Amino acid sequence: MPELPEVEVVRRGLERWVAGRTVTEVEVLHPRAVRRHPAGGADFAARLKGQRFEVARRRGKYLWLPLAETGTSVLGHLGMSGQLLVQPEDAADEKHLRIRIRFDDATGTELRFVDQRTFGGLSLHDQTPDGLPDVIAHIARDPLDPAFDEAAFHRALRLRRTTVKRALLDQSLISGVGNIYADEALWRSRLHYDRPTATLTRPRSAELLGHARDVMNEALAVGGTSFDSLYVNVNGESGYFDRSLDAYGREGEPCHRCGTPMRRRPWMNRSSYFCPRCQRPPRPSA
Ligand SMILES: [Zn+2]
Repeated sequence: MPELPEVEVVRRGLERWVAGRTVTEVEVLHPRAVRRHPAGGADFAARLKGQRFEVARRRGKYLWLPLAETGTSVLGHLGMSGQLLVQPEDAADEKHLRIRIRFDDATGTELRFVDQRTFGGLSLHDQTPDGLPDVIAHIARDPLDPAFDEAAFHRALRLRRTTVKRALLDQSLISGVGNIYADEALWRSRLHYDRPTATLTRPRSAELLGHARDVMNEALAVGGTSFDSLYVNVNGESGYFDRSLDAYGREGEPCHRCGTPMRRRPWMNRSSYFCPRCQRPPRPSA
């Protein structure tokens, strides 16, 4: 799954190549790609025709293209393998091309949604007063959002009966921190993933949030991290290469801080990677 930095790279590509362009034609080539648009592909295509895309927006891992003056947005679901490509109109169709959007200008390029595994797709939604597609109104701001409410985040950690990695992945509390970046931020903070959040002091939770931001900003600076070769950026060029991760995927390799072999534990149908020495498990409560 793409994480926040990868999605932000796609958003920037859309901002550069698609913002301000007016749709002339939409071709839906596979019904699964519009299954989140209940009125179907023909309705999706008809409602986009003649509309102008505004600058793409993102919250957490959600990405959308607002349509000017309509109060609606096209929400992009990248799923496991979805790509938004800006391609020359005469470029051969990709094998897994699902949706094509053509524009009325003379730039000679079109927007393509390509998805091998068809978990992703596009759908049209009304916007909330904040400008979010209504289906993601409950998603909290992400830590790279200038309006992220840090004080509320720290308060929630103190009050909730949860553990720290669960909290980092709770999209109603903080969005956009996926499994990879959660493990990295916890390693930098020397926190075990099962530490109860109520035991974190304000400086500790501020440190954790700072590390989460740093990890994501560093990944963004190199174009995102991806472990899925299918995932490429808006122009179809793979912008992703493995930055040197300290925790994720490093089972059995020496901790970059203390040399102890890193461990992996099953965690909520995923894995958690951690250093058993730097990130001590919490003492069982009495
Ligand atoms: Zn260590």
